[in-house]
Amino acid sequence: MRPQPYKWRVRMAKVMIKCPDTGKLVFTGVFGDKTLLESMQIKKNKMARCSACGKEHLWQKEQAVLQD
Ligand SMILES: [Zn+2]
Repeated sequence: MRPQPYKWRVRMAKVMIKCPDTGKLVFTGVFGDKTLLESMQIKKNKMARCSACGKEHLWQKEQAVLQD
C-alpha cells in the first residue's frame, strides 16, 4: 500500500496575470496562495501560455493576481 498523498488544507487559488495585449486576466497554469507568492517559491520569471491571445507571456510574481 502506498501512503495517501498529503492533502492541502489551504484552498489554493489560481495565479492569474493580466494579458498585456487584451487586458484580460488569464490563468498562468500555477496554483498558489498569498504565502506562496510572498515566499519566492515561484521563479522570478515564468512563461505562461495565454488563453486570451495565444501568445506566451513572461510574468513575474509582482504581476500575479490570485483568483479563487
Ligand atoms: Zn495574452
